[in-house]
Amino acid sequence: MGSNRMTDAAWSTVRNSLKGVIGDNNYVTWIAPLKLSSAQDGVVHLSAPTNFVANWVNRHYADHILRCIAAAGEPVSRVEISVDTATPRTDDRLQRTLKAAPLVAPSRSSDDADPVAGLDSRYTFDNFVVGKPNALAHAAARRVAEGSAVTFNPLFLYGGVGLGKTHLMHAIAWELHARNPELRVLYLSAEQFMYRFVTALRERSVMDFKNLFRSVDVLMVDDLQFIAGKDSTQEEFFHTFNALVDQNRQLVFSADRAPGEIKDLEDRIKSRLQSGLVVDLHPTDYELRLGILQQKVALNRASYGDVVIGDGVLEFLAHRITTNVRILEGALTRLFALASLVGREITLDLAQDTLADILRSSERKVTVEEIQRKVAEHYNIRLSDMIGPKRQRTIARPRQIAMYLAKSLTTRSLPDIGRRFGGRDHTTIMHGVRKVEELRSTDSQLAEDLELLRRLLQS
Ligand code: ADP
Ligand code: MG
Repeated sequence: MGSNRMTDAAWSTVRNSLKGVIGDNNYVTWIAPLKLSSAQDGVVHLSAPTNFVANWVNRHYADHILRCIAAAGEPVSRVEISVDTATPRTDDRLQRTLKAAPLVAPSRSSDDADPVAGLDSRYTFDNFVVGKPNALAHAAARRVAEGSAVTFNPLFLYGGVGLGKTHLMHAIAWELHARNPELRVLYLSAEQFMYRFVTALRERSVMDFKNLFRSVDVLMVDDLQFIAGKDSTQEEFFHTFNALVDQNRQLVFSADRAPGEIKDLEDRIKSRLQSGLVVDLHPTDYELRLGILQQKVALNRASYGDVVIGDGVLEFLAHRITTNVRILEGALTRLFALASLVGREITLDLAQDTLADILRSSERKVTVEEIQRKVAEHYNIRLSDMIGPKRQRTIARPRQIAMYLAKSLTTRSLPDIGRRFGGRDHTTIMHGVRKVEELRSTDSQLAEDLELLRRLLQS
């Protein structure tokens, strides 16, 4: 690299190697939120979304980062981490990184005979919290893990990001291994499957590839949607699949959606995947999230000692971080780190401060239609009156309140909001918004109503 500037591409290489060094969870919690802001003359500036993250990274990871940058061949003498006040968009980056990062430990590829290669030791059945949304997937995984007769073949698990697919697959592999250490269980991501196949093609070792994949007792391929559209990989996958099924070997797959919904996946593969048991992991509910948090608290105690989590903090997290268990865990890891750093109880306030970036990115997106519905319900008027022409106060006022909430809780423009209020002009919307702004300082009942509605809508 001739220039003295580090590129984003180089930074992403560095991030990848950091992941290997500090582990997935720490990576997600501390490194993923960092942004490269500048790198010149040997000084690399990174920005963090909150003070807390900046301090923690400075204290614990600055050396690691420095070493990894140097190892990537970039000129560096110092790493500086500061708080990023300008760009709240870090959240999106975090989200994207989370989506992009397969949670698979780098597999020791030279070591395929090792049944536990690439498995995360924490992803066991013991550590998996069962609730209504994942009960069926869990039961199916358990059944396969008993390793008795092959009943469902393949087992196909699907569901959104961070709902526990990888965790369940590793758990199956661990359990099979524990019951029968002789069993050859091969777990890998679809990406690794493709990578190995392509490498085999290049190195003219396709026979070895075939022999390896056809000699396993159990084959597990994670994130199968990845092979969609990759023709020669699909072809090879299809043949591997058939060969193993013919020998009555167990197959387990996961994907982010049902087989039939994966675009650019060959029909013959879709139908093979559907021929076994297809189960989905549903989005988590509040109880499951709380259960997971409580379990993680118990697990974290082992490494962080006696940390006091204040009343309501876990409930708050379970309530607010609703999409992705990985983000929920990251939030908790950060709280534990904070607690051990400041040596005092984690109160709700402290939690909100520390997790500002995560909470911001998890905010539910409210729609204008939802606002209209809730406001109409609250004031006991018809939903149709929200967009209709009636002018009497009992209807016009709630309508204005809905306009105000639409302006403050969504990112829609005034003309856009106007369209959703029965094609009203943007000046009408602006008038309504101003009116409510005025009233809220004088009319305490109205101010209370607004607060209540806001809470209802954002929960
Ligand atoms: P996916 O593969 O579906 O994207 P993962 O299996 O990687 O999701 O899960 C993301 C994180 O959430 C992991 O750290 C995992 O341990 C945790 N997790 C998900 N569901 C549960 C659960 N039911 N109990 C305990 N931990 C869970
Ligand atoms: Mg996964």
